[in-house]
Amino acid sequence: PKTPTKPTLTIAEKTASHPCYSCGAAHENARMHLPIAPKCNIQCNYCVRKFDCPNESRPGVTTEILSPEAAFEKYKLVKEKVPNLTVVGIAGPGDALANFEETKKALTLIHDYDPNVTFCVSTNGLMLPYHAKDLIRLNVSHVTVTVNAVDPVIGAKIYKHVDFMGHRYHGEAAASLLLANQLSGIKLLIDEGIIVKINTVTLMGINDAHIEEVVKTMKGLGCFISNIMPLIPVKSSAFENLTIATNQEINAIRDKCGLHLKQMYHCKQCRADAIGKLDSDVSLDFRSKTEP
Ligand code: SF4
Ligand code: SF4
Repeated sequence: PKTPTKPTLTIAEKTASHPCYSCGAAHENARMHLPIAPKCNIQCNYCVRKFDCPNESRPGVTTEILSPEAAFEKYKLVKEKVPNLTVVGIAGPGDALANFEETKKALTLIHDYDPNVTFCVSTNGLMLPYHAKDLIRLNVSHVTVTVNAVDPVIGAKIYKHVDFMGHRYHGEAAASLLLANQLSGIKLLIDEGIIVKINTVTLMGINDAHIEEVVKTMKGLGCFISNIMPLIPVKSSAFENLTIATNQEINAIRDKCGLHLKQMYHCKQCRADAIGKLDSDVSLDFRSKTEP
């Protein structure tokens, strides 16, 4: 086994070498998503749970789930074969924090092996207030939270339900609960120096005119970057027939929001098991024969 070395990279250096946070690094460095998180604790109206979480990944694809131990073995293989692998992310196929034990195990195994890896975790934010400190202890430096609304009236149109502490919430109660946890969780992370990216799915007629408000609120909390994404409709989801924003419409929203907070223009809406540079995914080379 490899002898662990002391971490030498600062969070600023990790940000500069992260292909999603620094456009320049996207052409140089690779990332790997570990598909270890199958469960989710909310239901977004644009999601069908047999597919990857569209909050951070490409919807409509089904990724095989790995155990934390199998993910660690895959990491070691990829690290050997893929040059400039700097980032390990957990982006589903469900929610990283709804599968916290698996997330914790995988990150611990990898950090013990390679303390200089950058850990990046994506979540809907529901469990952030409970796990923000754990993420910091696990050496996570970058967290993505999907925030689609900062108004529960709008949120109620986006979320079918939220499962929290043994109860299922609907409507505005669900949206208020999710929002409150997102806001307090993001604040906890930022107070500890964690770099936070906000993903927002553009839902025409529902939140498109509200996204600037979301971005302003996130700027106020100290978030680093905003990633405004188009909806990719998933068959049989409640938003299957929603009008899709054109590239021009998305870019116009990004340009407007860019006056408040740095915008990401190069997101590839990757799979939950993506591997490689953003523009040259090599995950197929590492997929088992039975995977789609
Ligand atoms: Fe689907 Fe992701 Fe929403 Fe969960 S958080 S319902 S996996 S889109
Ligand atoms: Fe980066 Fe977007 Fe891919 Fe996430 S989905 S790894 S933010 S390019």
